[in-house]
Amino acid sequence: MKIVVCVKQVPITTGTNKIDPNTLRIVREGVDAELDPADEYGIEAALQLIEAQGGEITLVSMGPDRAIEAIRRGLAMGADKAIHISDPALSGSDALTTARILAAAIKRVNPDLVICATESSDAYTGIVPAGIAQLLDIPQLTFAKKLTVENGKATIQRQIEGGYQTVEASLPALVTVTGSINEPRYPALKGIMQAKKKPVETLTAADLGFATSEVGSAGAKERVLGWNPAPQRQAGVLIKDDGNAAVAIADYLQKLKVI
Ligand SMILES: Cc1cc2nc3c(=O)[nH]c(=O)nc-3n(C[C@H](O)[C@H](O)[C@H](O)COP(=O)(O)OP(=O)(O)OC[C@H]3O[C@@H](n4cnc5c(N)ncnc54)[C@H](O)[C@@H]3O)c2cc1C
Repeated sequence: MKIVVCVKQVPITTGTNKIDPNTLRIVREGVDAELDPADEYGIEAALQLIEAQGGEITLVSMGPDRAIEAIRRGLAMGADKAIHISDPALSGSDALTTARILAAAIKRVNPDLVICATESSDAYTGIVPAGIAQLLDIPQLTFAKKLTVENGKATIQRQIEGGYQTVEASLPALVTVTGSINEPRYPALKGIMQAKKKPVETLTAADLGFATSEVGSAGAKERVLGWNPAPQRQAGVLIKDDGNAAVAIADYLQKLKVI
């Protein structure tokens, strides 16, 4: 079985994204960055399938040159090889262009299964996996908290509020996974050493047949028009109990139209 896992390097997720005030883009250079933790669940899901059934995992990533650090971590976890699309022309790409680039790279692998996180932990659009599935003309199964592949079909437990649905699709298919699906393994030293020698194909947009005018900010059909920080939290109201606290709380909640 051939599996592609889409992965992304994101600014460190324990911090707050910095936004360049001029371009309104996420600052990706000169900040701590990591393999998106959401993608580690996808890599782990792929590893478990391959370990049980045999096959090969290709990581596909679009990102600046330094994104290779995140790709190497995925390879250290156990993926076999990677495609890294790196090209200054891709800076400022919107979600649709990202899906088009990733789909074009995935086509070269011709996988049975594509695994993505539900969304990246930086821009949170959540629409890239659907775009890839549409462009590859394959079914998409979303929010998987369990994934099995058998008899040419992918079956998932699809996480929904209060339970799950069981949904299946014939292969090839794309599956998005949630953080409930597994516990990603930590790369061992041996894996880290092996990852340095695993093949990574580096491509530009032109290698995938795209003109510069079609991609990046030049080709983006959506624009970020502004950015504002979240308002500071206001100090709370302190009600001291002098015997009338219950009434004071009720009055306060009524003022807020909560009751
Ligand atoms: C705060 C915020 C909210 C957003 N909300 C939405 C939303 O609700 N809906 C929606 O559809 N979109 C949303 N977006 C996405 C947005 O519309 C576009 O993705 C945006 O124009 C690009 O922003 P970016 O900061 O990710 O750009 P960039 O940092 O340029 O990144 C865009 C993409 O290009 C890649 N990239 C950057 N440089 C290179 C390079 N040298 N080589 C290869 N790849 C590269 C990045 O990895 C990323 O995948 C949001 C973005 C931000 C910052």
